[in-house]
Amino acid sequence: MNCPCCKAELHANYGGVHCPSCGKDLPTAPNPAPVLNPGQKVSWPFFFLALVAPVLLTILTARFSPKSPIDPAATAFWSAVISGIVSGMMLARRLGRSGEAKALFCIVLVPAMFVVSLVMNFFGCLAGSQGFRIH
Ligand SMILES: [Zn+2]
Repeated sequence: MNCPCCKAELHANYGGVHCPSCGKDLPTAPNPAPVLNPGQKVSWPFFFLALVAPVLLTILTARFSPKSPIDPAATAFWSAVISGIVSGMMLARRLGRSGEAKALFCIVLVPAMFVVSLVMNFFGCLAGSQGFRIH
């Protein structure tokens, strides 16, 4: 790029607002696109992992029950609690624009995602205990 005033050649990534040779103001480069707050974006692979991981965990514990000391029903419940909190909060952060809206979405979405996860875990538990049991 060259200075529009004195035509002096400027370094490609010269960051100053004044020409180093004539001192006149340089046309300012357009600002780069504002970076999205990372908290506003949903990491979808992580979101689906938060939903699917408890189901897999429940299938595994159900499959090895009763040999396994881990109770598949307790696993289904507590992993659904964790999954509901994680995925519900991720959605709330994505949907809510203000702090109050995020909190409100949290109150609604965390129990909703907990129920979704619990239902999925219930079927995971059934599948684990009936479908894939090793004899
Ligand atoms: Zn200049």
